Amino acid sequence: MAEKRYHSIVVGGGMAGLTCAASLAKEGRRVLLIEKNRECGGLVNSFSHNGFQFDTGIRALENAGIIFPMLNELGIKLDIVKSPVSVGVEKEILNIEDIKSLTEYSNLLKRLYPESEAETDHIIRIIRKVMKHMDVLYGIDNPFFKDMGRDTTYLFKELLPWLLKFLFTIGKINRMNVPVEPYLEKIVKNTSLRDIISQHFFRNTPAFFALSYFSLYLDYFYPKGGMGKLAEAVEKRFLEWGGEIIRETSIERVLAFEKRVTDQNKIDYIYQNLVWAADLKTLYRITSTEGLSGKTRIKFEKVKSRLLEKRGGDSVFTLFVEVDEPIESFKRIANGHFFYSPSRKGLGEIHRGELDTILSSSGGPDRSRIFSWLDKFLALNTYEISVPALKDPELAPAGKTGLIISFLADYDLFKMIAETDWYKEFITELEERIIKVLAGSVYPMLNEKVTAHFSFSPLNYKNRVGTSEGAITGWSFREPVPVVNQIMAANRAVVTPISSIFQAGQWTYSPAGVPMAVLTGKLAARKILSR
Ligand SMILES: Cc1cc2nc3c(=O)[nH]c(=O)nc-3n(C[C@H](O)[C@H](O)[C@H](O)COP(=O)(O)OP(=O)(O)OC[C@H]3O[C@@H](n4cnc5c(N)ncnc54)[C@H](O)[C@@H]3O)c2cc1C
Repeated sequence: MAEKRYHSIVVGGGMAGLTCAASLAKEGRRVLLIEKNRECGGLVNSFSHNGFQFDTGIRALENAGIIFPMLNELGIKLDIVKSPVSVGVEKEILNIEDIKSLTEYSNLLKRLYPESEAETDHIIRIIRKVMKHMDVLYGIDNPFFKDMGRDTTYLFKELLPWLLKFLFTIGKINRMNVPVEPYLEKIVKNTSLRDIISQHFFRNTPAFFALSYFSLYLDYFYPKGGMGKLAEAVEKRFLEWGGEIIRETSIERVLAFEKRVTDQNKIDYIYQNLVWAADLKTLYRITSTEGLSGKTRIKFEKVKSRLLEKRGGDSVFTLFVEVDEPIESFKRIANGHFFYSPSRKGLGEIHRGELDTILSSSGGPDRSRIFSWLDKFLALNTYEISVPALKDPELAPAGKTGLIISFLADYDLFKMIAETDWYKEFITELEERIIKVLAGSVYPMLNEKVTAHFSFSPLNYKNRVGTSEGAITGWSFREPVPVVNQIMAANRAVVTPISSIFQAGQWTYSPAGVPMAVLTGKLAARKILSR
């Protein structure tokens, strides 16, 4: 069979790969996108089950000065709705509407922790400051989406005045670039209050990123029809511009000197430029540098060893629940995006010391010890709950409601239990115990009205999108991240030691998420187009 040759091959059809591929195809380049699954989107994805529409990955989007400019540039009109957030602890539930809700949030915390009024005031003051910094940080459309030569109005009226504010703010932001737990320890002595504020973030999340959550709550939006509509829209544009997609195809080998990638069926594809928009450890594991200059090979090996010794960040356990109860009943309780903690006590050592002891115990996982740990973990945790039909009523059959319930989960725990013969029992128990905790606290209708439930574990995330350790936003914050983590250096995040290979996506910049996946996809395309 004749070999297929492309100006650019993009591996991975998540938001990074799609953005990059569409940006290149728009400029008339011959582009092939290779995606492991049937559907593109990666961790931005929706599916349908029994007439309910669910999202497997991210539950709502924030613009961050990046998503809307990307859509504009690609000429995409996405039908969106606001995705209002609620926060709740025990019976205290607050629907967040605007900046004034921060005062109500402060009052909520004071009712829960009356002994910690001063600490609450302190932390709210910091959140307010962070919100101001966020207004600057995300205050304009990201300059990488602008053509500065032509758009002089943007340059003089927006970018330059913003740049001054940005330079003033970035120093303050960098000072908060320390893990949130020790940062909060200095301010808040009440461990329960500290946990309630921080326990739904990844361990060691940079304090600025963690405390920006209130800003994000105000900005969340949701594509009508489900999260997957975002990826579908970019994919459609890419195809309209002549892009090609090969689906259900996994790249298993990169021969850098020959500029050739090989898939699982040993079919080869030839590129001038390769953009790797998937798990980065995989790229470095499967790339052969034979034939390249000694200098390049040494540089590549250096980066490779730096990356391979690091881990992906926390994963997530997601439970999908179908309920024979109309959305109005759920609306009366909270908004369609809801962060809920059934107990004010906080997780404390349960997801740190206790879990670490379980993971490091010799002799394999102890079933009864894990189940007793699980009960405490589920009772004290914070859940991210999404109710798609509260954002778009079309997303559930009439009179019924679908819930997506998740919490951060340790990949190693699931991996360890998967090696036993009671993994299935563990998953079933986990699903039922989550439902019981929420039925006994915030959603009593889950006692009787659940018609079906199923879940997606960290192992499923790893298998589906090939993400190391099931990570959902790239590198772990627990160790120094091995990639660019300064916004001023974002442009460097997409280059590799090999001049014809670029990288994009959540593994190339930290902290990551959909906006950075999109931005790095765009930056990789820019680098290629400027060659
Ligand atoms: C439950 C959940 C909640 C989240 N919440 C947020 C949030 O609130 N805010 C936020 O910003 N982000 C959030 N995220 C993270 C965000 O969704 C991801 O960071 C982002 O979508 C990553 O995009 P990506 O293109 O870099 O990678 P991915 O989406 O992982 O895409 C990589 C693609 O590459 C494909 N692939 C992998 N290996 C190969 C191979 N060898 N050959 C071919 N194809 C391959 C995969 O199948 C996949 O489609 C969340 C994620 C999850 C799961």
